[in-house]
Amino acid sequence: MSDVFSVQRERMVQEQIYGRGVRDGRVLEAMRSVKRELFVPEEMRPHAYEDRPLPIAAGQTISQPYIVAFMVEALELEGGEKVLEIGAGSGYAAAVLAGIAGEVWAIERIGELAEIAAGNLKKAGVENVHVIHADGTKGWPEAAPYDAILVSAGSPEIPQSLKDQLKVGGRLVVPVGKHPIAQELIRLTRRADGGFDREDLADVRFVPLIGREGWPEREGAGFGEAEAGKPRVIESRPRLRAELPALIAQNAVHFENVEEADLDALIERAGEARIVLLGEASHGTSEFYRMRDLITRRLIAEKGFDIVAVEADWPDAARIDDYVRHVDVPPSTWQAFARFPTWMWRNAEVKDFVDWLHEHNRHLPEKDRAGFYGLDMYSLYNSASRVIEYLDGIDPELAQIARERYGCLSPWESDPAAYGHAALTGKYRACEDDVVAMLVDLFRNQQKLAAHDGEKFLDAALNAKLVADAEKYYRVMYYGSRASWNLRDQHMYDTLKTLLDFRGPDAKAVIWAHNSHIGDARHTEMSARGELNIGQLVREGFEGQTHHIGFGTDRGTVAAASTWEGQMEIKAVRPSHPQSFERQFHLTGAPGLILPMTKGADGDLAAALANPRLERAIGVIYRPETELASHYFEARLSRQFDDYIWIDETRAVKPLDAKQMPGLPDLYPFGV
Ligand code: SAH
Repeated sequence: MSDVFSVQRERMVQEQIYGRGVRDGRVLEAMRSVKRELFVPEEMRPHAYEDRPLPIAAGQTISQPYIVAFMVEALELEGGEKVLEIGAGSGYAAAVLAGIAGEVWAIERIGELAEIAAGNLKKAGVENVHVIHADGTKGWPEAAPYDAILVSAGSPEIPQSLKDQLKVGGRLVVPVGKHPIAQELIRLTRRADGGFDREDLADVRFVPLIGREGWPEREGAGFGEAEAGKPRVIESRPRLRAELPALIAQNAVHFENVEEADLDALIERAGEARIVLLGEASHGTSEFYRMRDLITRRLIAEKGFDIVAVEADWPDAARIDDYVRHVDVPPSTWQAFARFPTWMWRNAEVKDFVDWLHEHNRHLPEKDRAGFYGLDMYSLYNSASRVIEYLDGIDPELAQIARERYGCLSPWESDPAAYGHAALTGKYRACEDDVVAMLVDLFRNQQKLAAHDGEKFLDAALNAKLVADAEKYYRVMYYGSRASWNLRDQHMYDTLKTLLDFRGPDAKAVIWAHNSHIGDARHTEMSARGELNIGQLVREGFEGQTHHIGFGTDRGTVAAASTWEGQMEIKAVRPSHPQSFERQFHLTGAPGLILPMTKGADGDLAAALANPRLERAIGVIYRPETELASHYFEARLSRQFDDYIWIDETRAVKPLDAKQMPGLPDLYPFGV
């Protein structure tokens, strides 16, 4: 890739474009990706990256690189738009536009140049431009209205037809001036009331825009075919597969639906690891749960995995654990997964997996049964109650101490965040000493307590650890999200380590948590904010022994709320953003894909997916109205995950309420 042109191109972007203040990342990226040498006449190639316009055929010019970047930036494209360019010339500006927009129509008045532009675009592999030989001052009503219109030649006035073909909110950038070779660059933005906002952007020099709504044609200059006959579309091809989607499609295992996917190769890759982390791109998508279910079954049955640890609270998951491992416990007085977001674990998909695990474990010796555990820490009060309940049974004296110590937190049960605030502002004494002392007390009495039942001690100890971490969580929350996020993922990691230690050196774990937890944070924008996650911590702590599997989707429906503690709704998922990884996977046209990106993966593919793009993350809240700001972050996909599972269209999970569980044993965690 380090040919002389690519070196010159990078320098051009740095010095002429970035150096002069163009900052839009999409524009810089597009300028970086278009090979300008392909758009100048053969003999001009050595000059292709110079800081000036160059002559092309028919006495016209290819614009200076900076002016192209400047005008494209002024169009404020976000990606995926419909764009019209008047004055295709060499096709260079159209190629830059096509690097950002979804589809570009480029009109050229001179027939010879229109042919050249189409040929240049083809050579450059640009497939989303239609070149049209016509008088562009009349626009191109066939494809109107446009999100943006760029005029690459100077006009005495702004052609009315172009204004008419602009969408509301659309931008028209055009050089305007009464002198044929000196103009002012104007941006018009169409308002909803039909009027236009006008801004003067710069002084510029363009060749004249000649046509019915531009400069009159000079005597004898001849308009040619475009004037005489009907406009001619030289090149109008449907969008073909771009390079990256084709590479993805070639390297992936394809499937029609989740239940029919061939998982063999994936299980071999992942099965070598000690910790397999299964992500999800939302907390409310059926297909993600079902795929994780199928993979986990096979890891347990074929590869000896015995821990399933999920992004759920410890005490709630412990009730499922009792069920799947056939532990005889007295009927519970509380219902698991009763707090927001209930659908995240109390759903038909999780029930299927849990029932399978229950059956699978039935005939195994107790010590070989796979367990189900929670890594999360939103159960401060429930966990405190579980510790007290545990001690009540075997050490009433210590139970009393626990009651007193945890009593410090009880005024805040309905709103633990208010505790954090009160403790920080000194309005209430912090309970840190009490909760930490309780944890120490438990471990001081470990021998005596664990002698009754090691599993029950572990359960109580992890609940006490949760209380201690959660107490801190609510206090640090006020210092910003980074500190509390890190504390939470550190807690998940500590809990996982405790579990692995407890179950011994042969123990192997499957983690179910959101992509944003299980992907390696070092390769996402999180790390620039100082955030880490369990994906990063396991890669550092269990180097070479982990396998991270990310998930993604283009569109469909998802179960999510609009606000924290809000009602669950079934929301439509917007098609993926043009700048996202998801869009690249969507462009493969495949309904489902399993793509290896590290072990044994194609080098070009891995490299292409290591370039940063947007990645969508929907949590328990989904705000499609502000999707780009609320749900996309930047990542390097092939660094973040080892494998990526793509499901183009997905559906919301099926939530369950307690009554939907007839005939289940009393200890069944979902019912009361
Ligand atoms: N965007 C081009 C710059 C070309 S210079 C590039 O990147 O290379 C301007 C072009 O506008 C010339 O090729 C000229 O022939 C063309 N032009 C002038 N009047 C036109 C009209 N009415 N319709 C379409 N093209 C026109």
